[in-house]
Amino acid sequence: MIKLESDVLVIGAGGAGMFAALAAAQAGASVNLIDRSLIGRGGATIMAQMTVAVAVGEQCPDHWEHHLADTLTAGRGLCDVNLSRLLCEDGPTRIRQLDEWGVGWAREDGHMKQAHAPGHDRPRCVYVDFLNTGPAVSRTLRTQLHRQDGIQRIGDVLITDIAMHDGQAVGAEGWHLVTGETVSLRAKAVIIATGGLTRLYARNSASSNMSGDGFSLALRAGAELSDMEFVQFFPIGHLAPRMIGMDPIMWDPFRYKLGGRLTNADGEEFAERYGKTETGNYVLTRDQATYAIFKEVEAGRGSPNGGAWLGFDHLPESDLRAAFGPVIDRVAKNGIDLTRDRIEVAPIAHYHMGGIRVNTQMETGVPGLYAAGEAVAGANGANRLSGNAITEALVFGQRAGEAAARHAKAIKSHAPAPLPGAASVIAPDSRADAPNLAAMMLSLQQLMNDKVGPFRTGDKLIQAQSALAAMQQQLGERPFGHGGGWDAQRMDWYDLRAMLISAQAVTTAALAREESRGAHQREDFPGMLEPWTVNQVMRLHGDQLQLRRVAVAEAA
Ligand SMILES: Cc1cc2nc3c(=O)[nH]c(=O)nc-3n(C[C@H](O)[C@H](O)[C@H](O)COP(=O)(O)OP(=O)(O)OC[C@H]3O[C@@H](n4cnc5c(N)ncnc54)[C@H](O)[C@@H]3O)c2cc1C
Repeated sequence: MIKLESDVLVIGAGGAGMFAALAAAQAGASVNLIDRSLIGRGGATIMAQMTVAVAVGEQCPDHWEHHLADTLTAGRGLCDVNLSRLLCEDGPTRIRQLDEWGVGWAREDGHMKQAHAPGHDRPRCVYVDFLNTGPAVSRTLRTQLHRQDGIQRIGDVLITDIAMHDGQAVGAEGWHLVTGETVSLRAKAVIIATGGLTRLYARNSASSNMSGDGFSLALRAGAELSDMEFVQFFPIGHLAPRMIGMDPIMWDPFRYKLGGRLTNADGEEFAERYGKTETGNYVLTRDQATYAIFKEVEAGRGSPNGGAWLGFDHLPESDLRAAFGPVIDRVAKNGIDLTRDRIEVAPIAHYHMGGIRVNTQMETGVPGLYAAGEAVAGANGANRLSGNAITEALVFGQRAGEAAARHAKAIKSHAPAPLPGAASVIAPDSRADAPNLAAMMLSLQQLMNDKVGPFRTGDKLIQAQSALAAMQQQLGERPFGHGGGWDAQRMDWYDLRAMLISAQAVTTAALAREESRGAHQREDFPGMLEPWTVNQVMRLHGDQLQLRRVAVAEAA
């Protein structure tokens, strides 16, 4: 068994985890930063290609209060205003900090360029051209990790459980994917920064690490989740023709720059039918555009592969080249000539508004347990604005790191070793009736796509619940596999455990919410209903998820 100890343990090394580790170390704490992938190269942050929303007011006057107003409007009444405010107020500081660290925000006349994304009242989104925002943010944070003393970076460790002692989080346990060895990490404070859950869906923009591990860790440690029904579908995910080596959500930044035309099979720009006029601009928010495309397809006006057409072919080639830069040639290598070809796009699971319930210190309510980044709920309510997720990861990561370091300082000594349950993490268990885990994973993803997608009905959700319960039964209580290095079966078992509980949380909350709001649309309960301006909070009792409604937090 590998045993490690630190003041603060950070689980997940995306934008939130790296920022948390830096902040905790700067506050004097020793930090273990753990990731199931390579440090700073797993999860969503490095994949983000677009923009970061922040009221730096470089190209036109702005103030964080305007950003907050837009965030609250998009959140459809369900934002925790204190978390949203933290995101908007602190965002500019984090973005300027990254600027000082050399991230390379795109500039014009010395000012950071700011794109105008749907739902924002003005150009507010900074970026690194071309399609390099996430890679640049990750690279910059990785460099800072190297420069900062007190941070031990450990990749290829899959955390499976939070270690608890006397009701407090005192570390975590997991296994080293390369050797299969058990890993036991003691800490005075633990931060979950494991990102989202969009891998639950067959059509997703996720990496293979986004299985909802943090939600499963938090629930089993006694923390609460909130707003789990709100899964954001990105409306214009690439659908056809096939592209290799490109991000499926790559079209958005070019729509910010160029507008572009979103049309149906009849060549009509259809946004107007859903209450907005686009005519070559880009104004539909993500939930509105997802709704509009689904409805066009349902009405028989979809593109051949079941989406909508997106075209830039009405624009001069010089404009295309200026906006796309070298990307136009990468697209051309995939056989798409944007000066004349349109492409097909359709909604794709992309981000999770729900997550671990925290306060503005990123405390989960379980002493010693903190959370940050996409893993937390609250700041974005029922629908997230473009660009808010990276800001959320950076701002909340910083806050969690500082708060966890303070907590750790106040604790004199570590909880006694060995940590409870650590030795059992990878006990091999060869089952004669072992299910085919890879096949189960595909069925789970298809089930979530078909029954718990952006458009839901009570019947479909009930069917999903019983299918998920059957899968849970099939998975069983004990992991299995050969127990050595790169044990794919054991990894799938843990992924499925996290995916199943996360899927159950989404489905349970979606079934209970009998209205349509933001990213949660119930075909049997159309329209937003005032009594449902509440958050749904859940925790685990035994093996059952218990749900309760709580009033939306008011400004402190
Ligand atoms: C393709 C794509 C493009 C996007 N583009 C944008 C954009 O342009 N602008 C924007 O604002 N947002 C964008 N988003 C959303 C945004 O990138 C994420 O919300 C944000 O980066 C999340 O940061 P995070 O640190 O919370 O999580 P992540 O960056 O996802 O990091 C989580 C880390 O936790 C690790 N981990 C998970 N489980 C475990 C475990 N059990 N044990 C150990 N480690 C674990 C993962 O390996 C990963 O490294 C995009 C998302 C995607 C998928």
